[in-house]
Amino acid sequence: MLMYSHLNELKQYLSEAHRQIDYLALKYVQRHSQNLRIVNERPEEIKNEFDCGFRLEVFYDGHFGYACTSDTSAQGFQRCLDKAIRMTKKLSCNKIYPFSLKTRPKIVGSYKSQIQRSFDSLTLQEIQKILRDCTLEMKIHDSIFNRLAEAKLSHLEEYTIDSLGTEIGQSFHLINLDLVARGISGNEIQSRTSNMCLQIGSEAFLKNHLLPLSKKLAEQTLELLSANNCPKGKFDVILAPDQMYMQIHETVGHPLEMDRILGDERNFAGSSFIKVSDFGNLQYGSEKMNITFEPGRFSEVASYSYDDSHLKAEKIHLIKNGLLTRGLGGLESFERSQISPVANFRSSSWNRAPIDRMANLNLEPGETPLETLISKVENGMIMLTNRTWSIDDFRDKFQFGCEFAQVIRNGKLQEVVKNPNYHGRSLEFWNQLVDVSIENETHGTHNCGKGEPSQVIHVGHSSPFALFKNVEVF
Ligand SMILES: [Zn+2]
Repeated sequence: MLMYSHLNELKQYLSEAHRQIDYLALKYVQRHSQNLRIVNERPEEIKNEFDCGFRLEVFYDGHFGYACTSDTSAQGFQRCLDKAIRMTKKLSCNKIYPFSLKTRPKIVGSYKSQIQRSFDSLTLQEIQKILRDCTLEMKIHDSIFNRLAEAKLSHLEEYTIDSLGTEIGQSFHLINLDLVARGISGNEIQSRTSNMCLQIGSEAFLKNHLLPLSKKLAEQTLELLSANNCPKGKFDVILAPDQMYMQIHETVGHPLEMDRILGDERNFAGSSFIKVSDFGNLQYGSEKMNITFEPGRFSEVASYSYDDSHLKAEKIHLIKNGLLTRGLGGLESFERSQISPVANFRSSSWNRAPIDRMANLNLEPGETPLETLISKVENGMIMLTNRTWSIDDFRDKFQFGCEFAQVIRNGKLQEVVKNPNYHGRSLEFWNQLVDVSIENETHGTHNCGKGEPSQVIHVGHSSPFALFKNVEVF
């Protein structure tokens, strides 16, 4: 529940304070998280975390500046305001661009995660018992030595008001659920994992889904322990959605962030191989490549109605039939680059300033059933579940490792192979995309890092199975 007593006071302070400065906005954020971890049927951690505070944003002479505090008293507000005004006035002499207040439209609106069951519908003991049962399902052989089930439930309340009359309330329910089966044979360890990272309620803990999944992970781990290494060479490869989410994240999402393209992130998270002049001109991938920014997608983890500049979140194609049309830039990047904006100006919490981020960035599904996709492969494999990733700071040359692969010969699934990896270059690789499946899965991560000071945020990626030609596998 929002701490309305704090909010009403903060609103009052804001209405009195805005006479001192051209523009003033306040964002209040409150997060309650519970973490439960079970290892080998034993509870290892129960953690309860609560955090709240607010950020003030002031505008002076074309420059936005920030200060933040967790002290919600009148004195706390005044100290924070004084600091924000002092710093913004000083820094406005060295601004990189003279922004206008068009980058902060007046909006009144709200958002609430659509969940089926409230977090309260299961007690922590009941969730703990389900997680314990998951690790028990993995106990199918002595070699499965490490069995983990971990859930983090987060409830976030955000509230934004400004001196122009903006009032935005957004409420989020997020669950991150990891299942891990680790097996050992001699000196070798193999793992199978599953991650759920969604805006979802307690319906995430459905036993008739989680228990068979846990058992399957353990069975596949055993298969890997007796499998041969993945062959080396050029193959046609189908990547499953739980690998594709990382492929999309690293080789499409990060290179399309406008603040990287404009140079802001160069010393921190890195730059991009994309130039402003590429928008509308560059064939990023094959015509099967359709990338959308969709922060309104049901249950996907980075769904919301408004970003931190109050821009309404809408579904927009960034890449259509392979052609690059838009980047991931909010209203501020739009003023600087004239590349049409998307609502992606986001901050990880009250104590960080907003920057251009991914939200839900999806590869659109096609019309081919997975079975038909497999039947198209003469000599290749299907790879499941991201294990490792490495990419240069221009987001061009990459290398990914997966947990599990299965060889495909003459359109038929054959033996399992272990330690599959592949590498390539972003543009070349996406132009090798042959087809995408009808089947689609939604994944996400809660730890995309960027910015200075560093901030970690959740992003969602929905993807079909995708077939790429002539992939360098090792
Ligand atoms: Zn990231």
